Amino acid sequence: MYYKNILETIGNTPLIQLNRIAEGINATILAKLETPNPGNSVKDRMALKMIEDAEARGDIKPGGTIIECTSGNTGMGLAIASVVKGYKCIFTTTDKQSKEKVDILKAVGAEVIVCPTNVASDDPRSYYSIAERLSKEIPNSFWCNQYDNLSNRTAHYESTGPEIWEQTEGKITHFVVGVGTGGTISGVGKYLKEQNPDIKIWGIDTYGSVFKKYHETGVFDEKEIYPYVTEGIGEDILPKNVDFELIDYFEKVTDKDAAVYTRKLAREEGMLVGNSAGSAMAGIVQLKDKLKPTDVVVVLFHDHGSRYIAKIFNDDWMRERGFLDDELNVGDLIEKKQDKTFYSVQKTKTVREVMNVMKENDISQMPVMDNGTIIGSITETSVLNYILENPMNNTEKLVEAIMNEPFPMVKTDVPCSRLRQYINKEISAVVAEDKAGSKHVITNYDIIQAM
Ligand code: PMP
Repeated sequence: MYYKNILETIGNTPLIQLNRIAEGINATILAKLETPNPGNSVKDRMALKMIEDAEARGDIKPGGTIIECTSGNTGMGLAIASVVKGYKCIFTTTDKQSKEKVDILKAVGAEVIVCPTNVASDDPRSYYSIAERLSKEIPNSFWCNQYDNLSNRTAHYESTGPEIWEQTEGKITHFVVGVGTGGTISGVGKYLKEQNPDIKIWGIDTYGSVFKKYHETGVFDEKEIYPYVTEGIGEDILPKNVDFELIDYFEKVTDKDAAVYTRKLAREEGMLVGNSAGSAMAGIVQLKDKLKPTDVVVVLFHDHGSRYIAKIFNDDWMRERGFLDDELNVGDLIEKKQDKTFYSVQKTKTVREVMNVMKENDISQMPVMDNGTIIGSITETSVLNYILENPMNNTEKLVEAIMNEPFPMVKTDVPCSRLRQYINKEISAVVAEDKAGSKHVITNYDIIQAM
């Protein structure tokens, strides 16, 4: 058996149980993983449907141009379908999207126009306005308009919804998914509620988007709108594809939690998926108290993580946004130290006495103290050098005379990666004070032991 072209491979994606990441959630959590689609996202389904419906209506004829505003995934689906069907593609996107997403669209033959993110949708520079203008200027062109084109949600009503119903043998109790155009949630939600009206449909929204407040109050509040990092979900408009009646509840997830959970999905489930998948997963964790052991929750993961390699899966990008707090800090190093004694010497001790303390306790450096205050530091190397150079009088000489500068003091929340700024060939340790006020010496050895 073989497929006649790539478009025939769209859909029939797997449903996979989540295990480690779902520990602590008292329900069965199943992921509808959309990455096996040829464009690596769920959007292949609706892209093909929008084109087929346009063809059936006569809105696009052979050799025509497909125009769309797309953050990448819809564009990928449209571009693949256009390659097979012989259309040209022009996409408008925003400068918020990953560079990879733009490059990948060009790879499948599309022209991509990158527009500013922080302008209103009716601004002539917005990706929405530019797509609209091009569709008027270019003959035999079709602007898909995934926000208001209801072929979008119909695709999910016809394919994604029935697949989930069959794969769960009708046992699904909750469907959870990130909401952008609303096509996925509305199409799947409508199909599932027709089979069983008790199934709960939960939408995942971002901070900076209008959906949740509009759903709960009927108010379109412009004050809810501000720039955010999460890609693919949340809107500053009300797309026609969002059927608010079908949605039981919206949960907002922060940019940070979305990013952190995207990483967790890769590391704990082996699922390299995109930003909105992490958002949806974090949303389920936030809502876990509403679930019970007999519940069967299906969460849909829209796209592939390879499109976020320069962002979510890049440590520097995560750190710059304050999204990385799984990194060990000085406080963690103190916790992990087996021997938490603060070894130090009074300035009045002799070099020989210092050497004995070091030998007995197997340590290589110590702060030098004067009445409870750190006034200097002494290392194994300086002690050894002195003893070798002065074999006769090391029992008399006071450590004060050969000590170095005190070790730098650091706070317990300093991440390990920043310790490189302090610890080097000359400075072999730092000192930190814990919450109880006890001092601790941290050395390279402690960092290596903690890793
Ligand atoms: N996640 C990603 C990565 C997306 O590209 C989109 C589409 N904007 C969504 C989620 C939201 O899906 P929908 O548009 O069907 O609501």
